[in-house]
Amino acid sequence: MSKKVPITVAHGNGIGPEIMKAVLFILEEAGAQLDIETVEIGEAIYLKGNPAGIEESAWESLRRTKVFFKAPITTPQGGGVKSLNVTVRKALGLYANVRPCVSYAPFIQTKHPNMDVVVVRENEEDLYAGIEHRQTTDVMQCLKLITRPGCERIARYAFEYAIANDRKKVTCFTKDNIMKMTDGLFHEVFEEIAKEYPSIEPEHWIVDIGAAKLADTPEAFDVVVLPNLYGDILSDVAAQISGSVGLAGSANIGADYAMFEAIHGSAPRRAGQDLANPSGLFFGAMMMLVHIGQASIARRAHNAWLKTIEEGIHTYDIFEEGLSTKKVGTQDFAKAVAQRMGQTPEKLPAAHYSETEEAAKHPPAYKRPKVERKCVGVDMFVHCTTSTPEQLGKQLQTCESDGLSLTMIATRGMSVWPQCAEVTLCTDHFQCRFQLPEDSKDEIGPEVIIALLNKLHQAGVEIVKTENLYTFNGEEGFTRGQGQ
Ligand code: NAD
Repeated sequence: MSKKVPITVAHGNGIGPEIMKAVLFILEEAGAQLDIETVEIGEAIYLKGNPAGIEESAWESLRRTKVFFKAPITTPQGGGVKSLNVTVRKALGLYANVRPCVSYAPFIQTKHPNMDVVVVRENEEDLYAGIEHRQTTDVMQCLKLITRPGCERIARYAFEYAIANDRKKVTCFTKDNIMKMTDGLFHEVFEEIAKEYPSIEPEHWIVDIGAAKLADTPEAFDVVVLPNLYGDILSDVAAQISGSVGLAGSANIGADYAMFEAIHGSAPRRAGQDLANPSGLFFGAMMMLVHIGQASIARRAHNAWLKTIEEGIHTYDIFEEGLSTKKVGTQDFAKAVAQRMGQTPEKLPAAHYSETEEAAKHPPAYKRPKVERKCVGVDMFVHCTTSTPEQLGKQLQTCESDGLSLTMIATRGMSVWPQCAEVTLCTDHFQCRFQLPEDSKDEIGPEVIIALLNKLHQAGVEIVKTENLYTFNGEEGFTRGQGQ
């Protein structure tokens, strides 16, 4: 048998320790060759006053092993604590989050007996950059960041995954009818990358109707690739409608590191009762075994799991009177799987893992396109509680200079100057746009913006933020206000 592979294991919080114990037992019985380094992360570390929830010794282990097998952890609410999951994913560059959601009808109750969807979620960008600000009394802001290299590698990963796993179609979900620039880029890059994979059918859905279709007819989908937030939400939906949120595992893949877990959380209400279904973490482990070159062990364990499910030995979350034969706790479920090691399912399709199944982990180096970027104006975000948009407009116009003129004032993205609809709610936060004339070939430098800031300050205008307006090869790199 092959050499033992070092991995870092965290037993987590809530139901974490119970399901981790169960899964490590199954892996051992299956013959997995693992050299386990155990680390503590999460609640206990937060409670020690470390807001990151992870200590240097755990990072050292991860740098050594490069493979993290992690049970769910509890993120304390508020208190300046950052989600450890997001921190680990970003610190280790785990850009792709792969979540297969499969139904096991007729053995596990589901409305979708033919479901076999793999959700590939972008894992590092989008609203999860976690850049939030309170700018005024009324207004909170969260920045949604989508990058071209980020889109390229997640789209390419989804297509590579489809090829490696004999899948036929990759569907992209975005909201690019509204977020034309951020989601627009994700969609545009998806279409570009799709051209490199002519054997795979590309498809795009607007996320709202796509989500409805996924929840109603999941068998219409194969591999689905999504920006971070939509992927987070829809992978839970997909897992739940396949039978239980406790059934799906998740692989977080980067160029150098990988982390494997269940998609669900630490379910504190179920903790310490030997009730939880260990299957989600088990499927995380199956993807880990393929990742470390032990696909034959994964096949063996997965087939034993399928046989256990077929025989109706079920944890409470999937137990169904008349369908299941025996309700078992976490550890007894693991024992039942271990007892069936070497067996294959009779009705459910047997597991198939090839040794080369994994998608390419190393994206090609990013080549930044050459573009001509010109600064053609600036948005001044202003805190104002005393003036109407009309009065504010008049005040701002007195500060126009260096060819810049006020072209719009908007609040919450809605233009309220030069025209303001009576029903528009005006907050204390205004986006005031100063621009060069549209047909101008000129551009402005930072000194122009600084001069404008000075003038506005002297006129008593309170600026909370500035945002430069650029064109890229002559194309506007900013959206217009609604109604502008
Ligand atoms: P959750 O996923 O932990 O649990 C929601 C419900 O789903 C549970 O009450 C239970 O009914 C069911 N469930 C989940 N896992 C199950 C299993 N294995 N077997 C049977 N039933 C299961 O979601 P939550 O209650 O919103 O979150 C609890 C904590 O977990 C929070 O602190 C959250 O931040 C954290 N969390 C961690 C991770 C992670 O570590 N990757 C992911 C999500 C949430």
